[in-house]
Amino acid sequence: MKLHDVPPADNLPKFQQAPISGNDINGLGETEKRRPSRVFHALGRPDFPWAGLNAFFLMNNTAGIVWEAIKYRWRLRNSAGPVAKQQVEITDKRQMAVRIKEKAKEFGAGVVGITEFIETDSYNDIDNRFPYAICIGNPMRREEMVHVPHARSAQEVQRAYGEVADVAIELAEYIRSLGWAAYAYGDPRSTEILQIPLAIRSGLGELGKHGSIITKEFGSNLRLSTIASNLPMQMDQPIDIGVEDLCAGCRRCTTDCPPGAISDEKQWVRGEHRWYVNFDKCVPYFSANFGCAICQEVCPWSEPGRGPSLSAKLLGKRDRKKTSH
Ligand code: SF4
Ligand code: SF4
Repeated sequence: MKLHDVPPADNLPKFQQAPISGNDINGLGETEKRRPSRVFHALGRPDFPWAGLNAFFLMNNTAGIVWEAIKYRWRLRNSAGPVAKQQVEITDKRQMAVRIKEKAKEFGAGVVGITEFIETDSYNDIDNRFPYAICIGNPMRREEMVHVPHARSAQEVQRAYGEVADVAIELAEYIRSLGWAAYAYGDPRSTEILQIPLAIRSGLGELGKHGSIITKEFGSNLRLSTIASNLPMQMDQPIDIGVEDLCAGCRRCTTDCPPGAISDEKQWVRGEHRWYVNFDKCVPYFSANFGCAICQEVCPWSEPGRGPSLSAKLLGKRDRKKTSH
């Protein structure tokens, strides 16, 4: 994918009084596991450290983007609801997982996976009440997303958040009709949870060098929603589609990121050695340029239809390497 008209990373918004580094808040360099702390997405929470930049980001939008955002945030008022008094008994967790995934697809899910919640999946000011997470991913319209980092792609991001949130809302409602609790989470602004680690553990995809999930079906050209529930279901396992093998040698996102926020080296973040995007470099550019997303769209995995063949090629290469040793 070719980029057009990419604003340079100079003249970005500056704080009169700089907040504590977002990298410190995120736990960059920390080798001990801990729960994440709030940092940026701060709708209605001006006390969050980078709330000022978040407010700038929210105001720096076109009417079309704001309209899409308002529409789905209005729909998210239905995230929770009454649970049916009669509870369906679950005797076969595997069968229930199959049923839930079928329902998710029926409601419009692109990809769906199930995992358990662990402590580090929610922010440190939240008490997570649910044991299971159902993760949903829906693609964005590529013909709009090739316009990153501009208003056209940003409007599509908001539309896609609405679409994937709708699936979560409907599925949560279905689960509640079975007599089990369920809550639908939408975009990062409205959530208390970290959707990417959940989606990775639920087998939707792998973490890329650009800090986003990469799926076989849609690359990084997708948006996530999550349903938290106590409905007993068999869990999925993380998958290996060859992302690590490609990221080890590819530098497309690293070189195309205007503020140079993506590192070619994995780093320690809250007790995990993984890819990490420099928050302090990325977020000012992201906020001044419609949520950017250049790194997600230039990634080879995001070329429509390319994921399955890319994965087969990478895994085949790995196998051949193994057998020749
Ligand atoms: S652009 Fe290349 S290095 Fe970056 S996430 Fe995609 S495959 Fe990995
Ligand atoms: S969104 Fe991606 S490409 Fe854009 S500034 Fe952040 S890391 Fe760089």
